[in-house]
Amino acid sequence: MKKISLLGSTGSIGVNTLDVVERNPESFQVLAMSAGSNVDLFAEQVRKFKPKVASLFDTTKIAALKERVADLDIEIIPGEEGSIAVATLPEADVVVSGVVGSAGLVPAMEALKAGINLALANKETLVIAGELVLKEAEKTNSQIIPIDSEHSAIFQALNGEKNERIKKIILTASGGPFRTYSLDQMETITVKDALKHPNWDMGAKITIDSSTMMNKGLEYIEAKWLFGLDTPVEIIVHAQSIIHSMIEFADTSIMAQLGLPDMRVPIAYALTHPDRFECNLPSLDLATMGDLTFEAPDFVRFPCLQLAIDALEMGQTMPAILNAANEVAVQAFLDELIPYKDIAEIIRMVMHNHRPSPLNDLQDVLNADQWAREETTKLITVTH
Ligand code: MG
Repeated sequence: MKKISLLGSTGSIGVNTLDVVERNPESFQVLAMSAGSNVDLFAEQVRKFKPKVASLFDTTKIAALKERVADLDIEIIPGEEGSIAVATLPEADVVVSGVVGSAGLVPAMEALKAGINLALANKETLVIAGELVLKEAEKTNSQIIPIDSEHSAIFQALNGEKNERIKKIILTASGGPFRTYSLDQMETITVKDALKHPNWDMGAKITIDSSTMMNKGLEYIEAKWLFGLDTPVEIIVHAQSIIHSMIEFADTSIMAQLGLPDMRVPIAYALTHPDRFECNLPSLDLATMGDLTFEAPDFVRFPCLQLAIDALEMGQTMPAILNAANEVAVQAFLDELIPYKDIAEIIRMVMHNHRPSPLNDLQDVLNADQWAREETTKLITVTH
């Protein structure tokens, strides 16, 4: 029986993780769970999975949660203290982090600090603090297992072979809903257009990131931290999202991982690896699928991709700046405060206004994150 602590249980990753658990009730137990503010769904999940500890980040909704699970013997801890408690329960075999955005960093670090293996869907944790996160994992000998589908694919394709034998990682991208748009068409993109992802069903923030290809930029940074900063990473647009990524090895042999776009597969693998369990999920039918296509990414129409690569190159605080500026700009677009094409422009300006400094500890990351949020908000107010 594997004991799981789940961070972000009401989000897309959380819901899919609980679905995997339900499919294998004799193999998995949810020990603790946390959510942001969706108290209705969270109360339902808590009633069903009966964790020992539950935490809701939104402290204004704690009373409502307590009322709904009053008959159960569950410890409820609010706010960040609660997410940290969920992340560090010593009985846990693995912490699954499905938190959205940089809010995932602190609980993920605490899990590693406590020596618990981390199944990581929250890419921001590695993007903004990769060096510190890896150091912590090494110190406590805890493992980081990727859930992001591309990184799970790379992890599966690597399957015990040495990182040094990788010639390059081939990171696939769906290209999002605007893959075939002209620059002119990109001028008039609405929130509704951007929220329609062709292949994956995800939360709003990551769906917008997929449409700008910032998601692939963040995944590029994530891949570098997971599989070696010196490992070349090539991004290739593969519209069908059937190949989830590949590795070319030293001998030019390429290993790919294929499957239907379903997050339950990488989640299940993160929980069962190096073994695999029966999941009763639909199989890929290649004959029905037909053609698989590949093309180079367009850095002109998708400037966020280059911004992310540049941010990693500049290093230090810059990836944290990129990430925070993106989070604020995407939210401003969703709130219809800025047009679509300004997302990249604003991130570029924030990066331009920032002088990178070293990341010695978590506080340096949080300070950079805070600075970028304020700077982005200021720029949005001044320019719109
Ligand atoms: Mg992904």
